[in-house]
Amino acid sequence: MDRRSRSAGVVCVIERIETFTRKQATVVRVTDHAGEQGIGQFATGNHDLATPIFHEIVAPKALERSVDDIPGLVRDILERSYKYPGTFVLRGLCGLDTALYDLWGKREGRTVCELLGGPTDPDPVAAYGSRLRRDTDAATEIEICERFREGCGLEAFKLKVGKRLAFRSDADVWPGRTEAVVSGVREALGSEVDLLVDANSAYSADQAIAVGEEVLEPNGVIHFEEPCPYWELDWTAGVREALDLPVAGGEQDNMFEVWAKQYERIIERPVVDIIQPDVGYLGGIARTKRLADRAAAAGLPVVPHGPNHTLQKVFTLHLLAAIDNTGPYPFEYRIPDTGGHGMYDPEPTVDEGTVPVPTAAPGWGVELDTEWLARAAYAVSET
Ligand SMILES: [Mg+2]
Repeated sequence: MDRRSRSAGVVCVIERIETFTRKQATVVRVTDHAGEQGIGQFATGNHDLATPIFHEIVAPKALERSVDDIPGLVRDILERSYKYPGTFVLRGLCGLDTALYDLWGKREGRTVCELLGGPTDPDPVAAYGSRLRRDTDAATEIEICERFREGCGLEAFKLKVGKRLAFRSDADVWPGRTEAVVSGVREALGSEVDLLVDANSAYSADQAIAVGEEVLEPNGVIHFEEPCPYWELDWTAGVREALDLPVAGGEQDNMFEVWAKQYERIIERPVVDIIQPDVGYLGGIARTKRLADRAAAAGLPVVPHGPNHTLQKVFTLHLLAAIDNTGPYPFEYRIPDTGGHGMYDPEPTVDEGTVPVPTAAPGWGVELDTEWLARAAYAVSET
């Protein structure tokens, strides 16, 4: 049967919004008046705290609403939550937004990638191996990067540099770690791999420039992420102007309607060369796609933030497959990948340096694991 025919001419109204919270993530399941369901997920990290806020502030504004205009519904919910602008509303909103895209896709018999204007059968997405640790020495970083280069064909790796939020002292995690790790991985893996680094707001502007000139440029780094406190746009813009390597940022910035229109300022100035929205932090696909389109108009590539193996990986893959303005390695693939959390199937994994977009079924193309759901803390908002 043509799956599209099931929804022809029918207005889809949201009747029930459920959340399933476990340590790994909070999953959202939306059910419409006809019993069709879609699955989504909050941003990860303190998602258990976002769950009561979601059922108090977000979900009631969505019940009995049509899902035919997801960007409009998302915008309306945020505007009506104007007393509570901030990350916990957005983190939960991502769960609703992504569940609605899944539901829309299932009604239409199309993947989310297609709904966003992408191809029916997208190519696998090029990935870089993303390291999240700062308590490691060069030998450990080399071993892990080599393992994933040989085993999975990854040809680009992102290393942590500096000490998170140390911009007042410019101290490293221990003296010399940054230089040892970056130079060590470059020397061990050779000139053919591409190196990215992430400072997580580590440096003053002067120190970021010094590290760039003395360590990153000599080692051919192609991506210097969040060199300075992310809210100090002038500092970051100064680093970008001083260095001869692309500066990246934006993962923390999510306030473009309510506060300082920060992301527009980052794109339009521009403050960075590479834009890094996080689907979860921004409140879902509708807002992230809008941002990606603005970045495209400004000629900036998008390399989303998303270093985990939950459903966020699936959301990011569909988005990347639907846009043209991506970087050379657009997908952040956390290594080591301890595999899926048993949340869903199929879980995309890296092979020959790329990660497939799950498109064998409509929506996100994945199914939740019933055992995972059965062991989760449950809450529901319904009409
Ligand atoms: Mg980062």
